[in-house]
Amino acid sequence: MIDLRSDTVTKPSPGMRQAMAAAEVGDDVFGEDPTVNRLEEVAAQLLGKEAALFVPSGTMANQICIKVHTQPGDEIIMERTSHPFANESGALAALSGVQVQLLDGVRGILTAEQVARVIRSGEDVHHAPTRLICLENTHNRGGGSIYPLEHIRAIHAVARAHGLAMHLDGARLLNACVATGLPAPAYTQYFDSCTLCLSKGLGAPVGSVIAASADFIKRARRYRKMFGGGMRQAGILAAAGLYALEHNVERLAEDHQHAKLLAERLYGLRGVLLDPAEVETNMVYLRLDLATARLDAFALMQAMRARGVLALALDRTTMRLVTHLDVSRAQVEEAARVIRDLLA
Ligand SMILES: *Cc1c(COP(=O)(O)O)cnc(C)c1O
Repeated sequence: MIDLRSDTVTKPSPGMRQAMAAAEVGDDVFGEDPTVNRLEEVAAQLLGKEAALFVPSGTMANQICIKVHTQPGDEIIMERTSHPFANESGALAALSGVQVQLLDGVRGILTAEQVARVIRSGEDVHHAPTRLICLENTHNRGGGSIYPLEHIRAIHAVARAHGLAMHLDGARLLNACVATGLPAPAYTQYFDSCTLCLSKGLGAPVGSVIAASADFIKRARRYRKMFGGGMRQAGILAAAGLYALEHNVERLAEDHQHAKLLAERLYGLRGVLLDPAEVETNMVYLRLDLATARLDAFALMQAMRARGVLALALDRTTMRLVTHLDVSRAQVEEAARVIRDLLA
């Protein structure tokens, strides 16, 4: 099977498994796992922050940060399709009791003007005070789009002017860094907290990190325990994360080339709306024009599966294809052939 549903399907390589088996471990809830401690140091350095915290998932990473930043009844500003709002099972309401001002981005990207317009001070007793602005880079539902640095800088200026905090869902931040050539701190300097997923294109089986100030991480550590994310001999997982950061970052460029190739092969196909120029990282979102396409996205997904290619239909008109380290160039070519056969 050629699995293009997500970059989360990657499996630990033999080298990664060896690093995991050899990891020195201890009880991380006691702060005694040397491999977790090392991963947290490496991640803090990489992300340009004082401290970092290893957590089981990207969802928990985001939700812990939002919990630290807010009180129940506060308001946070996010893009409508952003992961912490749209894909974390209602956690914002359940765990932090916050409400959300949703804005419509262009491919997930907001402007400072949009953000400035909806900020509320809390002076008026009718309003929930705005506390936090949450951005996502790369933006998953935006098509793996890269947040332009000028937008982040301008939104940051608005946040500072109003005393608001900034949080970055950086699940795929390193995809943005590899694509632009910018180091991670070029982005993270504008955020009070940020996350990074080790279990997506970086190829680790489990794990994400939060990076922020030492004081923030101290508070985050308490919420990690509260949310059930305190792990014991977690060094066995942190070793995979360290291996991923050492071996699998630069190669993300290959995934980006593969996504671009896939988009170029599918461009111009009957019923497919797709602009290869918009494929900036490792994701291809196919939009199907139901008036002319031979199949809708669900039927296409089923037909592809029968031909050995897995993809994710999000609704009748949208299919997501994601490249990653377990898909070769030849497999990408094969996937493109299958889709062309089915839609031509
Ligand atoms: C995958 C993802 C997450 C959540 O990660 P999990 O480990 O699946 O909980 C958060 N944000 C974005 C943008 C993601 O793509």
